[in-house]
Amino acid sequence: MGKYYIYSIIIIFLSFFLASCDSKPKLNIYGDIPTNTIIMDSENLKELINQFQINNLLIVTKDAIAVELSSEYINELNLIYENDKKWNTGSETLPITTNLKDIAFIAVESSYDKYRLALFTQTENQEHITPYQKIKSEYKLVGTSTLNNRSITKYAKKDKKEHILSIKNSSMSDTLLIIHTSGKEKLITRENLLKSIKFHNTHWSLKNTPTDTITIIWDKYPRNSIKDVYTKLKEVNSDNPLMCIFVDGLGVNIIENAKSHNKIGFFEKYNFLSARTVYPPKTKYAYFVVGNPLHLNESDQKMKTIFSNLKLNQVEIIEEEKTYYPSKYPITLNTDKNQNGTKDDEIYHTALNKLSQQDIELLFVHFHSIDDIAHKFGPYSIQTLNQIEYVSNFVFDLTQKWGKDFIIFSDHGLHSVDNYGTHGINLLEDMNTVIANEFK
Ligand SMILES: [Zn+2]
Ligand SMILES: [Zn+2]
Repeated sequence: MGKYYIYSIIIIFLSFFLASCDSKPKLNIYGDIPTNTIIMDSENLKELINQFQINNLLIVTKDAIAVELSSEYINELNLIYENDKKWNTGSETLPITTNLKDIAFIAVESSYDKYRLALFTQTENQEHITPYQKIKSEYKLVGTSTLNNRSITKYAKKDKKEHILSIKNSSMSDTLLIIHTSGKEKLITRENLLKSIKFHNTHWSLKNTPTDTITIIWDKYPRNSIKDVYTKLKEVNSDNPLMCIFVDGLGVNIIENAKSHNKIGFFEKYNFLSARTVYPPKTKYAYFVVGNPLHLNESDQKMKTIFSNLKLNQVEIIEEEKTYYPSKYPITLNTDKNQNGTKDDEIYHTALNKLSQQDIELLFVHFHSIDDIAHKFGPYSIQTLNQIEYVSNFVFDLTQKWGKDFIIFSDHGLHSVDNYGTHGINLLEDMNTVIANEFK
């Protein structure tokens, strides 16, 4: 038995050793593509072009010569791993500049935008930088050659590295907010950011946290956060009951648009402050702000939510047809009983009935229809404007009849895509939301 055990260990080690000696050709692919992508041959590259809708390729040699070509020409390009263990390219039909020796890597420009870096100011998406743009920015144009109507652009490495971010700009604040794809936030001085931001060919990170990708750099970020709702919930007790009204999808952009069209309705009664939401800007993450969104596991009933750590007895949660989180407190679900196309009137009536309930400590009401309508017709559509006005009646009536402390907040805004609306990415429209408090 023991002998076989030792033999099998030796075999395992031997196979590891052989695997590491094996010099199978590998070429790194950088840019807008998942980290650690490699290809073994030109067929792999063609597969990637289809899979990630790659438009352009930047082929970079170890001598820091780069050539950019459209992925349309991929079938005319020979990418060969030569006997001298170097990757070379050549072509019969493309300009001679595509004949490259000793390629270091290929960068790709694609629709894969998971790791593009956003730079927000208070009011706009100032920049979105893709890893491909960042790589290309390190090269200067040498010239363009054309053959058979096919144009290829040649580049050479710039002598000096440029910081692609405009954060040298003096109008920027001294302190910036960094948001990671894990949802973690970090405040950093402009100076430290310039020193510690690191580019990894497919994504950015801070030097001391290399595995946590940066997705947003936010200048003049909103000081309020929807995480403040959680802090406030923890202060609730029977002497200080709270009504918390969650108006889904009511982002700063959506509320500003409603104001400018005189469709703000009773929402004009509240002092809405801009607030940053959690990343990614989606409803379920708003419920899990106390956890680490990256490790969110919806089937985990022990997953902490904004309600998990509360030590209250009388809590009422009012939701639409389904919930996305476990709760130790009762949740009243609502369907569109009168089939008028929205559940928010049913939610309002359910909430109204709970108002008279004795000893209620926390009443949490989630209106969902503005988000639904904005998804369907677009965040700036007339339908969304009408829905904002409509829902504002319910919210105002509830806060009036409640007469005690309340918070109104939203989980995210939406951005337009064609005629629709969506959210969940690093756009200011998605990330910038609102919060209003009234504490008596
Ligand atoms: Zn939502
Ligand atoms: Zn939504």
